[in-house]
Amino acid sequence: MSKAIQCEAIEPLLSGFLDDELSQSESQRVALHLKRCEKCSALLAELETVHTDLKETLHEQSGHTAAEIEQLDKLLNDKPSKWLGTTAWLLVILGALVVGGYAIWELGLALWQDTSQPVWLRASIAALYLGFAGLFVMVLRQRIKSLKTDKYRKVKL
Ligand SMILES: [Zn+2]
Repeated sequence: MSKAIQCEAIEPLLSGFLDDELSQSESQRVALHLKRCEKCSALLAELETVHTDLKETLHEQSGHTAAEIEQLDKLLNDKPSKWLGTTAWLLVILGALVVGGYAIWELGLALWQDTSQPVWLRASIAALYLGFAGLFVMVLRQRIKSLKTDKYRKVKL
């Protein structure tokens, strides 16, 4: 077998040789050839460099992405933004309750005190107040629950 033909047979195996994917006899054949063939040795060294570079690049990329995700996660879940979120929520709820409640209260009280209004309307106003109080309690409970869940999540992590 001439050397050139040997090289042709060995070259396709080099990548597998590098990754330990060859059978024992194939691997031995490649190793034996490499000892005697500078050309294939150089090719293997080149392949090795490419492989290492590729692995490092992949590793860097995945490391980079994981770090970025972690950073983004921190940014979204850090204390100030959580605190801001909770405060904003409370402000919206409180503002809506005060403004809405005041308007409804004023209107309701006027209608409620106006005994000339039909009973169904006055009963509806009472129902509205009760329903509103119920909603308020529900929202409050949900907020408290989600705060508790957040705490639990933090402990789990
Ligand atoms: Zn060779």
